[in-house]
Amino acid sequence: MKVLKFGGTSVASSQEIRRVRSIVGNITDTRVAVVVSAMGGITDLLLAMATLASQQDPEYKKILKEIENRHLTCIRELLPVDQQSAALSKVKSELNILETLVEGAFLIGETTPRLLDKIVSYGELLSSFIISQFLMADGLDACFKDSRELIITNEVFGKAAVRFEETNAHIRDYFEHNNTQVNVLPGFIASSSNGNSTTLGRGGSDYTAAVIAAAVEAEELEIWTDVSGMYTANPKLVKQAKAIEHISYEEAMELSHFGAKVLYPPTIQPVLSKNIPIRIKNTFQPDSPGTLVTRSKNGKGKTVRGISNIGGIALVSLEGPGMIGIPGISKRFFEVLSLADISVVMITQASSEHSICVGIAEQDADLAVTVVNEAFAYEIESRKLKPVLAEKGLAIIALVGDNMKSHQGLSGKMFSSLGKNNVNIRAIAQGASERNISAVIVQEDVKKALNTLHEAFFEEQVKQLNLFVMGVGNVGSKFLNQVQQQKKYLKENLKLNIRVVGISNSRTMAFDENGIPLTDWEQVLSKGQPANADQFLAQIRKLNYRNSIFVDNTASEDVAAMYESFLRQSISVVTCNKIACSSDYENYRKLKRLAREYNAPFLFETNVGAGLPILDTLKHLIASGDRVHKIQAVLSGSLNFVWNNFNDNTTFYKVVKQAQEEGYTEPDPKIDLSGIDVMRKILILARESGYQLDIDAIENKSFLPEESLETQDNDAFFNTLEKHEPAFQQLYKEAAEEDCKLKYVAEFADGQANVGLHKIPRGHDFYNLEGSDNIVLFYTERYPRQPLIIKGAGAGAAVTASGIFADIIRIGNF
Ligand code: ADP
Ligand code: ASP
Ligand code: MG
Repeated sequence: MKVLKFGGTSVASSQEIRRVRSIVGNITDTRVAVVVSAMGGITDLLLAMATLASQQDPEYKKILKEIENRHLTCIRELLPVDQQSAALSKVKSELNILETLVEGAFLIGETTPRLLDKIVSYGELLSSFIISQFLMADGLDACFKDSRELIITNEVFGKAAVRFEETNAHIRDYFEHNNTQVNVLPGFIASSSNGNSTTLGRGGSDYTAAVIAAAVEAEELEIWTDVSGMYTANPKLVKQAKAIEHISYEEAMELSHFGAKVLYPPTIQPVLSKNIPIRIKNTFQPDSPGTLVTRSKNGKGKTVRGISNIGGIALVSLEGPGMIGIPGISKRFFEVLSLADISVVMITQASSEHSICVGIAEQDADLAVTVVNEAFAYEIESRKLKPVLAEKGLAIIALVGDNMKSHQGLSGKMFSSLGKNNVNIRAIAQGASERNISAVIVQEDVKKALNTLHEAFFEEQVKQLNLFVMGVGNVGSKFLNQVQQQKKYLKENLKLNIRVVGISNSRTMAFDENGIPLTDWEQVLSKGQPANADQFLAQIRKLNYRNSIFVDNTASEDVAAMYESFLRQSISVVTCNKIACSSDYENYRKLKRLAREYNAPFLFETNVGAGLPILDTLKHLIASGDRVHKIQAVLSGSLNFVWNNFNDNTTFYKVVKQAQEEGYTEPDPKIDLSGIDVMRKILILARESGYQLDIDAIENKSFLPEESLETQDNDAFFNTLEKHEPAFQQLYKEAAEEDCKLKYVAEFADGQANVGLHKIPRGHDFYNLEGSDNIVLFYTERYPRQPLIIKGAGAGAAVTASGIFADIIRIGNF
């Protein structure tokens, strides 16, 4: 015999019930017991109705009507017209009894646990009756059997315990004396020896099926539900989760105990002792293999089998200086909780031996505080203990696997991945069986934590990076195009999955949790909401994704001021904006420190030399113990472009205009021409070399006339360039006469920096610098005479975008 259980979603309406018919009808080689839940949502409605009635709220009648409609509609849709009336009148008469019960609750203004069980039992009673009628009408050899006549429990209403001796005898007797092929039974409900209806706990239909399967020693227990098996994590929270092909009873039990709702935890026990395999299958995809649960196959397979989570947890901790001196304190603590019927979900490793800390259901927290404080009133009064406190709003996440015990480093990996993503761990517990490691975290972090752990333990190959991009001008739009082009390559070759979740320019911003389609980002952005930097940050925080990276493609001071908030949330920052790193030294240090503290890289390779790997090279030099003595560099692609193209056949104005139009200058070209941009770059180089320097201390011998430096806007600035053309021609002439080229050079030596226009003679390293190229000479302990030279294109939107991209890949490999 086989036992098949169909959950609420699998019998939610006539359409689903027809699927059940076809699944059950396919089994012809053995008899079947079909255990069904209430139609999806009905148990909740019954409970809501009872609550309203007990509050003497006549609105309960609306719910009753809804319950009635769902069942009557179902009969009308399933049964042939000439067979409907008997079923309809039976169901109506049952509903009348239900109405009388609820009316009673309404009149006296209360419900008792016993009455509640009676009321909720109608969900399964009606669904099983209707399904049995349909199966018969549709040609199967089927019948209905009320589980309350078979399963006998104690009278702990709401979560009654099965009396196995009587129950097993009844079940065996029934199936021995009955030869019907398909026996439909209500799940979840049972009765006490006194004949009262009882229930087995929410989700308990699974248990009913297991009890029957064990009693008849079925060949298999099949749990038919709305997902294709037990997954590596709750598929509603972790998109990448996969159905587990094969799992041991113990692992399944552990996962369900910690929240994998797909199997009600007590379900395993009865079938385990009889070694009956459980198969979890999807009613909506009957051909998917699902999950097979059996005895473990010693030592083979993955170490971590699944990750589960359970919400609504509170931590209660008892601590105080006198803790060690008080005898039997933990015994008393647990006794008090147990006497108050509070079950302890987990006992955690306390931060010190001077405290005990347990995880309990949140709804028990207030009661726990009261009873524990009462029980220890004397010790609290005499200040040996502090009054207990409960911390609510928590959740448990657990890694589960039979083979975890034989592998070191799993908890290290678990906690470091969580730590890297700023998931704060409130408490830790490792099961004595070493089959699970669990951690208590705040509820808001659950989704991020699950995805982080899932990535770490099940998707080791692919790492997801979530980008939030601000600024989509020249650089930003090139960057998005590059991401689009490289996406596939990165996934296949570097195992990085890059997803742009948010984009903002100064007008609008848009988010898409599944990733903004990069072929279409302009369209998406134009339809976005009004841009607002605070809300952009708030949204990133709310999404709370792991591996989040904020990408700043602006030149804005306000945006640079946001980095601190990002880093403090463990959101990495990648920027081509130089403002933060060239701001006052304290701020620069602080951002670097926060990046370390919150494990969130802060990368700004493009601040110097656009896409050239200058800062990265410097970082490696310093990290490997080298020391920088002197830096000489041409760092302005814009100034290089200007002085390379300027001569006596053109005008300075024209060349600067061209540089601006071709994207070689900052939006405000004065920042380049005045030398400020170069000052910022040499400042950043000096700082990254380990020197403390501020911008005021850098000498700038600007070649611009005073009047140009004083202008307030681009037009005025360009006007002064036209006006002072002779001065620029003079500079060119002097250099040409000496067979020199003009280069804007930055120098750092002996802790001092200066920038200015130099005449560079033929043969010098800087002489042949083309177009907008940059060059840096590092004189270090290891490179004392022949400097380490980095040279190449140092300006332009495309190379800058590729530098930003490189920083993102660095974070991916971090
Ligand atoms: P039924 O009504 O069929 O008994 P349940 O809602 O009780 O179904 O259980 C199935 C649900 O369990 C899934 O839809 C899923 O949301 C949830 N679930 C939680 N964790 C897991 C997991 N690890 N694997 C599969 N499902 C899970
Ligand atoms: N109908 C019950 C519930 O919703 C039992 C079950 O579906 O397993 O909890
Ligand atoms: Mg269930």
